[in-house]
Amino acid sequence: MRDEARSPSPDSSGAASASELRSERVIGRELELVFELAPIGMAISSLDSVLLEVNQALCKTLGYAREALKGLSHAKITHAEDLEKRDALTHELVDGRIPHFELEHRYLTADGRTVHALTRAGLIRDDAGAPLHLVTQIIDITERREMEERLRYAAEHDPLTGLPNRVAFMKALRAHRGSELPFGVIFLDLDQFKIVNDSLGHQAGDELLVLIARRLRDTLSDDHMLSRHGGDEFTVLLSGVGTTQPAIEVAHHMQAALTMPFDLQGQDVFASASIGIALGIRGSATLEEILRNADTAMYRAKSKGRGRQVVFDDTMHAKVVKRLTVETDLRRGVKNGDFLTYFQPIVRLAKDAPTVGFEALMRWRHPSRGLIKPDEYLEVAEDTGQIIPLGNWILNDACQSLAGWRRLHGANAPEFVSVNVSNRQFAHPEFAVQVEEALLRSGLPPECLRLEITETVIMDYGLETQILLAHLRDLGCRLYVDDFGTGYSSLAHLHRLPIDALKIDRGFVQGTVPRGDGLEIVKAIISLAKNLNLEVIAEGIETEEQLEQLQLLGCKLGQGYLFAEPMSYEDATNRMTGDLPKPIEED
Ligand code: C2E
Ligand code: MG
Ligand code: MG
Repeated sequence: MRDEARSPSPDSSGAASASELRSERVIGRELELVFELAPIGMAISSLDSVLLEVNQALCKTLGYAREALKGLSHAKITHAEDLEKRDALTHELVDGRIPHFELEHRYLTADGRTVHALTRAGLIRDDAGAPLHLVTQIIDITERREMEERLRYAAEHDPLTGLPNRVAFMKALRAHRGSELPFGVIFLDLDQFKIVNDSLGHQAGDELLVLIARRLRDTLSDDHMLSRHGGDEFTVLLSGVGTTQPAIEVAHHMQAALTMPFDLQGQDVFASASIGIALGIRGSATLEEILRNADTAMYRAKSKGRGRQVVFDDTMHAKVVKRLTVETDLRRGVKNGDFLTYFQPIVRLAKDAPTVGFEALMRWRHPSRGLIKPDEYLEVAEDTGQIIPLGNWILNDACQSLAGWRRLHGANAPEFVSVNVSNRQFAHPEFAVQVEEALLRSGLPPECLRLEITETVIMDYGLETQILLAHLRDLGCRLYVDDFGTGYSSLAHLHRLPIDALKIDRGFVQGTVPRGDGLEIVKAIISLAKNLNLEVIAEGIETEEQLEQLQLLGCKLGQGYLFAEPMSYEDATNRMTGDLPKPIEED
């Protein structure tokens, strides 16, 4: 019975129903105008979805003349892919299972365009409550949909090159991870791209990136996805590549594609790239790890020179793991305060070698690995910024130790303590304040504190450096340049800097005997220091011969295993109470 109610007559075609119904009004006179002038599309249809009445707005949206539209079935104007869903809902509506429905779907216009619409439909019933007609409201949301589409595109594409961006790359990587298909990742970084930006300007740099992106994409088959990772970095997702050889071939093609010059505003510009490759087969690696492995391999490639490629391997993996472990352990170590200050005597290079000061050297008391020297963790501490709290801690500890010794031992206490300052610490805006606070807190006279800065600091002879050095000098502490001679280019500014002493790197000191290259350098540094009225401290003196040589050259101060190795606070204290100064012969 219900079926009969839904279909007006068994042989009803759209046209028949329309003419049939034209005579009996489908809309009451009073609502005719409301219907006609509504700003959204409206239609009244038969229960089998033939349009009986349509308003102006709908005609406009769908691009039909009114008479052409009337009589058509909804199937004719609905996008084929959306028809099933719409029909299902219409049936539910007519069957009385739902009171109305709302659906986003697509219409087709008279000239074949697609219109996205939000459709709402309900039933008009007769006086007895039987369904009579369908009434539909159609809101054109095409613009909103296109905007959404554009936003979605923008979120996953690089605006400059039009390539997929990092977000899209990670999404594709994730999808691959979920499938059985093997995959590899190429990480490509352009060599010395900064030079292009600096010399030709950013706009030219951008243009070059676009050209490079195009060439790189042309070398790749459609299976592989090239994306711009950021700046001058590109990544490739190698789909179906599970072994190194094909990955290397792709990388070669990419590098070869860059060898031809690029025409940039009439100039020939050359480009090359360093490439790192990592395969996604390592079961336990996360996507971030795979990408990082490729990045690590790329850095390795860079260190070999321009235009190289390196495949991530297990030894690199081991290094990465080790570094990660150090990173995690270090964070815990800093939090728990697992650090000690060791002290190495700095002695006068005279008979009996009296101790004049101590260099404070950091030691990490690792819970399972024991005492660890700075070489193993300093770089990580610098990279992660942990050096800031660590550096500040040893500064305070060193000042407090010497202040304590001075109180206890008076004249037997060494004159100064020397603290190493890392570049990152030196560049920290709070550094001068930290030094001032360490002095205030410990009560140590400022002239008893020596700061060992690196040669890089003085090479960067900028205004900020000058101000900071002058400030530290004004505080009253003295400044040493550590490992002098390893940075080469600092001599030009040396006379203008408020420096007190140069520490000759142990590499040169140990190269002095027998008559090695070091000798000339040590000689030059000592005479330079004399001219500039600076003190010289020779580091790493291990043998009598080295000592004699240095004495001959007129070097007055030194440190090294010949006199004493770095020692704990307790040992340093004992040294002071015991037979200080310790004779050279006892070492
Ligand atoms: P450095 O400042 O040049 O310190 C001298 C290094 O040479 C120390 O190594 C010391 O133990 C070692 N040494 C001294 N005499 C001899 C010798 O006769 N033979 C040999 N082979 N080595 C000798 P250490 O303690 O392992 O420190 C290494 C480097 O780590 C230091 O070089 C310094 O640059 C850095 N460092 C140490 N402590 C700190 C710190 O608290 N802060 C910062 N920023 N760096 C530190
Ligand atoms: Mg030092
Ligand atoms: Mg040194």
